[in-house]
Amino acid sequence: MADRVTIVVLVSSEQLSWRRHIMQLPTIPHKLLFSLICGLSGHAAIAVAASAPLPAAISAAADATRSEIAQQAKALEPALLETRRDIHAHPELGNVEKRTGELVAAQLRALGLEVRTGVARTGVVAILKGGLPGPVVALRADMDALPVKEVSDLPFASHSKGRYLDKDVDVMHACGHDAHTAILLTTAKILSDMRARLPGTVVFYFQPAEEGPSDFVPDGKNTWGAKMMVQEGAMKAPKPEAVFGLHVWAGIPAGQIAYRAGPTLASSDDLRIRILGKQTHAGRPWDGIDPITVSAEALVGLQTVVSRRTDISSFPSVVSIGTINGGTRYNIIPESVDMTGTIRSYDYGIRQKLHANVRQTVEKIAESGGAKAEVTIIEKYDPTINDAGLTEKMGPTLRWAAQNDVTQSPLVGGAEDFSFFAKEAPGLFVFLGITPRGQDMAKAAPNHNPGFFVDESALVVGVRTMASLATDYLYAAAAPR
Ligand SMILES: [Zn+2]
Ligand SMILES: [Zn+2]
Repeated sequence: MADRVTIVVLVSSEQLSWRRHIMQLPTIPHKLLFSLICGLSGHAAIAVAASAPLPAAISAAADATRSEIAQQAKALEPALLETRRDIHAHPELGNVEKRTGELVAAQLRALGLEVRTGVARTGVVAILKGGLPGPVVALRADMDALPVKEVSDLPFASHSKGRYLDKDVDVMHACGHDAHTAILLTTAKILSDMRARLPGTVVFYFQPAEEGPSDFVPDGKNTWGAKMMVQEGAMKAPKPEAVFGLHVWAGIPAGQIAYRAGPTLASSDDLRIRILGKQTHAGRPWDGIDPITVSAEALVGLQTVVSRRTDISSFPSVVSIGTINGGTRYNIIPESVDMTGTIRSYDYGIRQKLHANVRQTVEKIAESGGAKAEVTIIEKYDPTINDAGLTEKMGPTLRWAAQNDVTQSPLVGGAEDFSFFAKEAPGLFVFLGITPRGQDMAKAAPNHNPGFFVDESALVVGVRTMASLATDYLYAAAAPR
């Protein structure tokens, strides 16, 4: 029900922007103008307009731009793949994307864009001012890789090493951020070439550390990646009125786009629990307080936080414990036990209730056993929520970019710090399939896996997507000054 209301509001605002366009088109006779405007009034017309194309003259300009995007994306494919393979062969972990950031900045400067570097440590922001007045839109890519050893015989496979939390590790672009960076650089090139007739401004965010920092453990006070870019003012001057991002995704056919309106990816919060007991000989447990037994009870109790106390009728939630550490010897009851886990949700209100219920459950269970519990919850990533109006509005663009091969995405249990950009401006984040079409989708190595593989034929679709999201938005929204 709420969705229906949102659609009406959206189309109404689209109508307004169409009217502004129509008024600045001298070639359209006034009679036709009148009938176009009147024809779009009223609820019946709104229902039609929701799926109808733009008025003819606007549509022609948008179509011409799309054709150019399609041609250029194809023509630039060799350079796109070369850049992607170069970045793939030289992956860098979160907050140390030095080479990648320099490569990005150099390519953007060569296009004549205004480029800022060192944003949120290694991030890059570039501004492309179009030759015509219009709004500001932002496009985002992430640049960091993961501490994963690549399993592949590709000629550009990674042999890189890095430091992850003070340990030597192998490094791989196992989440496809190399593809995102190359796609957005190619998009910047295409949009730069048409800048004279671009009605508005496009801002490019190349962010570091989407997967988290490699150089420190989050403690709830320090920031990184998208959140840090926002805190540093990256979205203030210029301030975008919409922000777009995409993620290559294993298990979706190459070139297909999957997306959904509303909550899309989960919030992700770290859970750290310490159960404090009293050390004693395991043959005389009554002389101490056993944190092992208390932690087992707490672990079972945590299972009821979602299943018994959370309203799961709208969105699911997850509370998982991933590690338990306690004790040194079979016949010694230790002083304490440490557990770590994750809390995931798709709604800000549910998230806060989960936090409160997790704390209460663990603390009271510990108290019942005579122990104490220290519960620390560190909010790391907000839920990624696609703006319903923006998602509806850009649906035709996504269908064009993917040549009608679009599908609705399920909720994704992973998290994305695109969420922080989408909190500042209406956002739309879509998934681009990169698994070869002949392959069993269910057997594709998932993102973050050592066998993660990108079918490069999808990358041109990624360029079409990012470029046309920007231009279609600008063409539909530009107003004369
Ligand atoms: Zn990832
Ligand atoms: Zn990722």
